[in-house]
Amino acid sequence: MRAPVTKKHPIAKPWIEAIHAYVPGKSKAADGRPLTKLSANENPLGTSPAALAAAADAKPTFLYPDPDSIALREKLGEVHGIDPARIVCGAGSDELLNLAAQAYAGPGDEVIYVRYGFSVYDIAARRCGATPVVAPDADYGTDVDALLALVTDKTRAVFIANPNNPTGSFLPRGEIARLHAALPGDVLFVLDQAYGEYVAPEDDDGGMALAAAHGNVLVTRTFSKIYGLAGQRIGWATGAPHLISMLNRIRLPFNVTNTGHAMGVAALEDQDFVVRSREHNRAERARFVAAIEAMANHGLRPLPSEANFVLILFEGALTAEAAHDGLAQRGYATRWLPGQALPHGLRITIGTSQQMDDILAGLREMAEALA
Ligand SMILES: *Cc1c(COP(=O)(O)O)cnc(C)c1O
Repeated sequence: MRAPVTKKHPIAKPWIEAIHAYVPGKSKAADGRPLTKLSANENPLGTSPAALAAAADAKPTFLYPDPDSIALREKLGEVHGIDPARIVCGAGSDELLNLAAQAYAGPGDEVIYVRYGFSVYDIAARRCGATPVVAPDADYGTDVDALLALVTDKTRAVFIANPNNPTGSFLPRGEIARLHAALPGDVLFVLDQAYGEYVAPEDDDGGMALAAAHGNVLVTRTFSKIYGLAGQRIGWATGAPHLISMLNRIRLPFNVTNTGHAMGVAALEDQDFVVRSREHNRAERARFVAAIEAMANHGLRPLPSEANFVLILFEGALTAEAAHDGLAQRGYATRWLPGQALPHGLRITIGTSQQMDDILAGLREMAEALA
């Protein structure tokens, strides 16, 4: 017989109670007005027209989607030169990041990520009861030596986003290789390339090659950023068959939708859209960063970015919070990050030329008013 009930409601596991829910980028002002969203790193060019058209040809919606995402994995394999058996698809790469932590870490284990890393890693580690271990940064970037110094017998997984969100920082191929080479073979190295397509092909960080050659590397990618399919929730991961097999055991059975499959395949076939998006981003980001650098006298400092956003540090009279609020008054949502220990930082997605001009004009106006 069960002892008499003393609790008034079910009690969550302490490691679940310790989680701070993910905070998404805002799309409304404090007063409810809709804002132009430069707060979630979405593609300002929208979605490939071919992918939009493909939605109409998706499998009928009363039918369950293909549980194995076969057509999508085959197309991914073709585009990236990977055996489809080494690919698993997910409801966004967020699902796969969580599954990776869950498959390899539990109570008593440690999961390492860097300070100012992607906030999902903290949730992914905690939800399976593992202990998050945060490596110090090197001027907001990933410090390979500081991270390696934290590897212990308890370390089960290391999560790195490259380029990283929210900083935009990027570790070149040699540093990724050095980090991997120094990790014990039984530590899972999760390399999150959500912004990988924004990096020029010649500057590729070598993650896919590591995932192809080693048993402990999982590379994750997404259709949410350069492919402009954030609303469809499609991500994928590649690695050794034993890693893929573990994720397949615990993923949800029908985790990618019919429209997701159809749009994902069509988006992969339209690489012109990807190139156009990357070129737009590179040109606008360079112009934006140069203009922010010209505001150094007002204490604004853009961090170097290889992604589709720039993190600006506010070290003068104009604060990040005031800039965030002032830009909202001018119609734009940006990402202020006090919850990620960046109360002095504002992350701004690279939008259209007009949007970036508006942001720059707003920042200048606010900074000059305080000078
Ligand atoms: C946006 C983002 C993702 C992608 O999330 P999805 O679930 O695929 O939409 C993953 N990692 C990082 C670092 C991101 O910024």
